[in-house]
Amino acid sequence: MTDCCCENRDDDTNADDPLAWFARMMPHCVEYATAAKEQGRRIVCIMCEYTPRELIMAAGGVPVCLCGGSAKTIAAAEEYLPANLCPLIKSTYGYHVQGNNPFLEMADLIVAETTCDGKKKMFELLAETRPMVVLELPQCSEDAGALEYWVEQLRKFRTQLENRFDVQITDDALREAIAVMNRERALRRELAELMTADRPPLTGRQLIELKSTISGIPADLEQYEKVLAHLRQKCPPDNETPPVRVLMTGVPMAHGSERVLEIIEDNGGLVVCMENCTGVKPILDDGDPETDNPIRALAEKYYRLPCSVMTRNDRRLDTLRSLAGQYRPQCIVELVWQACLTYDVESYRVRRLAEQELGIAYLRIETDYSPSDSARIATRVEALFETVRAEGGTPT
Ligand code: SF4
Ligand code: SF4
Repeated sequence: MTDCCCENRDDDTNADDPLAWFARMMPHCVEYATAAKEQGRRIVCIMCEYTPRELIMAAGGVPVCLCGGSAKTIAAAEEYLPANLCPLIKSTYGYHVQGNNPFLEMADLIVAETTCDGKKKMFELLAETRPMVVLELPQCSEDAGALEYWVEQLRKFRTQLENRFDVQITDDALREAIAVMNRERALRRELAELMTADRPPLTGRQLIELKSTISGIPADLEQYEKVLAHLRQKCPPDNETPPVRVLMTGVPMAHGSERVLEIIEDNGGLVVCMENCTGVKPILDDGDPETDNPIRALAEKYYRLPCSVMTRNDRRLDTLRSLAGQYRPQCIVELVWQACLTYDVESYRVRRLAEQELGIAYLRIETDYSPSDSARIATRVEALFETVRAEGGTPT
């Protein structure tokens, strides 16, 4: 499938390699969604980690992440959207214009989370021809009233799913979905924690492949177990020059937009932790599978997510402090997609945390999906690593 979000980039992968399953993640997801749709299940696309997938699963639906990571769809999006807009938003919209995201084409519903301004306004255009519900996320992270409003929003979302799909979402089904998502999060956390080793058995580029655009697929959960068993007994690489340990933070890297991560690792770095939404941020907390009130439990779990759309977002700094202690990075690299104002403004606080509190180097990289600035980014990354090595480079 050319120029499609599910292009298989690793057709020559060795089938005996336990990582091979996830190298074919997109084709697997398309097969899974197609079969589910044929069996009458509903495909529900989401664009943010604040949306509790558990509610969709408890309604019998298939939750799919819609975020676009391809540069190839951006020109089509720019026919309708401003050029000076986040590439993640443009890429997602470009798939809609071109009609070549199979998940979007089979979607029974899109969830429009009110996070950043660019996404909110793009959703209005998408809603002209696609079925959509708005999930209104309050943005004061520590305000008790805001949390209560979020609980109400999730109750409303439950009713919307029940009415649209003519199903009943029981509390038992919600608890079951919480347990499935907890298992998935726990397995992904264990994979991420392999990077705490002095010589981790995989790269950050390999780690970011170990996830799925659809949550809760039973075959994926089995494969996570296999990959974990394989990596636990694998001999770690014995590099002559140990790579510089990097903690990446900032914006999510949707499937296909891992270019900066690749540049870091091609130039002497090892990304030992990704704090962003395509890394550990959404999997650090679990929901309570025994709760009497699953909607409230989900609201509390998801509202804790430390995204820059929140004010204040001190929890992100707390998370970075804790991850720095656990993963021992020698520097922090912050990725900011062009025109992502919230992460861009917040980058000042992250730099201050890195340099003044953690005592490690910090680099902010602002870019989009075009490879035109790759050489310039590589030069800046090389200079960062020279500085880290010259200063002794002891992990924190
Ligand atoms: S970075 Fe923020 S807006 Fe983007 S997916 Fe994560 S939580 Fe949602
Ligand atoms: S990266 Fe920033 S601008 Fe882009 S969708 Fe996420 S929050 Fe919005």
